[in-house]
Amino acid sequence: MRFSDINKIQRPDLVTANLSDYADYYLNFDWDLANQCIDGLPQGGINIAYEAVDRHLLHGLGDKVAIRWLGKTGSQQEFTYRQLAEQTSRFASVLSSLGLHKGDRVFGLAGRTPALYIALLGSLKCGCVFSPLFSAFGPQPIRSRMELGDARVLVTTERLYRKKVMPWRKDLPGLEHVLLLDASADIPSGCTDMSQLMAVADPAFPVAATGPEDMALLHFTSGTTGTPKGAVHCHEAVIYHTLSGHFALDLHPEDIYWCTADPGWVTGTSYGIIAPLSIGLTMIIDEAEFDATHWYKVLEQQQVSVWYTAPTAIRMLMKAGDDLVGKYDLSNLRFMASVGEPLNPEAVLWGQRVFGQPFHDNWWQTETGGIMLANFAAETVKPGSMGRPLPGITAAIVTRNTQGLSFIDTHDEVGELALKSGWPSMFRTYLNAEARYNACFCDGWYLSGDLACRDEDGYYWFIGRSDDVIKTAGHLIGPFEVESILLQHPAVVEAAVIGKPDPVAGEVIKAFVALKDGFTADDVLRKALLGHARKHLGSAIAPKEIDFRNNLPKTRSGKIMRRLLKARELGLPEGDISTLESDEK
Ligand code: ATP
Ligand code: MG
Repeated sequence: MRFSDINKIQRPDLVTANLSDYADYYLNFDWDLANQCIDGLPQGGINIAYEAVDRHLLHGLGDKVAIRWLGKTGSQQEFTYRQLAEQTSRFASVLSSLGLHKGDRVFGLAGRTPALYIALLGSLKCGCVFSPLFSAFGPQPIRSRMELGDARVLVTTERLYRKKVMPWRKDLPGLEHVLLLDASADIPSGCTDMSQLMAVADPAFPVAATGPEDMALLHFTSGTTGTPKGAVHCHEAVIYHTLSGHFALDLHPEDIYWCTADPGWVTGTSYGIIAPLSIGLTMIIDEAEFDATHWYKVLEQQQVSVWYTAPTAIRMLMKAGDDLVGKYDLSNLRFMASVGEPLNPEAVLWGQRVFGQPFHDNWWQTETGGIMLANFAAETVKPGSMGRPLPGITAAIVTRNTQGLSFIDTHDEVGELALKSGWPSMFRTYLNAEARYNACFCDGWYLSGDLACRDEDGYYWFIGRSDDVIKTAGHLIGPFEVESILLQHPAVVEAAVIGKPDPVAGEVIKAFVALKDGFTADDVLRKALLGHARKHLGSAIAPKEIDFRNNLPKTRSGKIMRRLLKARELGLPEGDISTLESDEK
């Protein structure tokens, strides 16, 4: 069976599908076949930008819309694959004329604007390494990442430059060029107007001769557990992005696809740029911030067929209520997926109720570069589970000791989630932190730092990050299980639990809870929630204390920072909070 045939296997009914119907996905998988999902450079080698853009011109997709950009103010702009090829070539020519070479680092700091996407792809075309930064970072996190990454070029806006880069620019002499996307007449010194350079740049650029192992992207982790790490990814990652885009997100060339993640995070690059473009579909970029009504309008007006989003957003949509979603015609939507945090079963079932289909949870990390586990298109969704390993991925539940790894083969036993090394989008190192990188591996396996268990059907269930797991009265408790029960209560929209040292139990569980509109944070509700948790979890693992908050501290990529709640509760130092976003008490 060829790879292209694997793609043609009929999409099953998600409810009635029998896993054995899809044995082909696993049985016929082999990496030599999988590699056929990309073309490779005509002269040999691999370049992500070539796969994502230029090759489509040879396959008759030149006039197809690659990107439809929806501006904050209601404007729209479209780029066909041919236009994207030309624009990215121009940007590669700009870099080349500035003297940049293969391996040089280009950073991006901007909102979701087309020029940022063009800069990313154009940098890769030129053989440079691109590192996307989230535009809401403060000056210090921007500086430390650019310093670590040896930035030679920064692509940004004038406002962001003045506010967040200018104050320390002189301390980073290696940063030779700052290209402004929207330069005013009064351009700051040391900056260049990018549109002027683009206007005179050569629209033809021979794609750099990059090989599979050449560094392409530098992605910083979310900083949920501590200081963000710079994960290095290579050009051959595109094989896996394309493949997993098919398997986990069910992407087809005829789809209209919307990934809501910002390219400042790995999801917004792997599945917000590379996978969808490599597959040759039309993708939506929405510049605006989250707003429930606006999001439903985008889904309806753009006739989105595949939607990839995150638990935080789903919970916000749930908060906005079922009536709102009922006002929109979302009949084009046929596949919805979620990543980034545990997706509570409640949210999966809500999807089923209001959209007529479940959210498909999937699991991966900045380090893995692509989706590893998924309730994927061809399999039955199990609400609350992260799904099964994608074809080509071998996962296991392990414990690590001085002798090496022990594999847990029994069902439902908790251990660390590990992946057998060797898939194409795997990170190659943490930049300038080789020892930290090496510590992630044992006996040829990558250890994720997340705890999970596997059920009898081979589905993996998230327990918690190893740092967040709570030990109380001899029980090992994952925060996810307790939080999911709290979320079942009609008053609760967000929940996070931590372990608090206790002289008798070792730790007791404390919960932090945010309420839906219309509910009052008082002792009556507190008692009701404690009772609800005790009823469903048993008194041993139910929270003993509950605090109400307006919202929970989250990283800018939308992950609840339990370590911060814990540090505050225990009066300990807060640690690295460079990625902290919302945090109202
Ligand atoms: P840092 O490594 O800096 O602490 P981070 O781990 O949050 O930050 P990311 O690489 O963005 O940075 O996130 C990966 C992590 O997100 C996973 O290790 C896991 O803990 C969590 N995660 C992602 N998807 C899921 C999911 N579907 N279910 C549960 N957890 C998930
Ligand atoms: Mg991590």
